[in-house]
Amino acid sequence: MNYHCPKCQGVIYNRRNKRCGFCGAELPAELLFTAAEIAALDEQEAMAKELHRLEQAKRDAEEVARRASAE
Ligand SMILES: [Zn+2]
Repeated sequence: MNYHCPKCQGVIYNRRNKRCGFCGAELPAELLFTAAEIAALDEQEAMAKELHRLEQAKRDAEEVARRASAE
């Protein structure tokens, strides 16, 4: 579902922003994420980043082990 600015009907592509990215109008709170939703999103992003970091570290370790065994 898309949210639209009540003033210019522009699509609100980032509901964290308090202002419309097109006309700069202040957006009503019901179109935006609540503080709790933003906190939950931040947590999800942090977890995804951490997971990615761990996978990268695992790949690096496997690569090191592969090179070591190839010698
Ligand atoms: Zn607007």
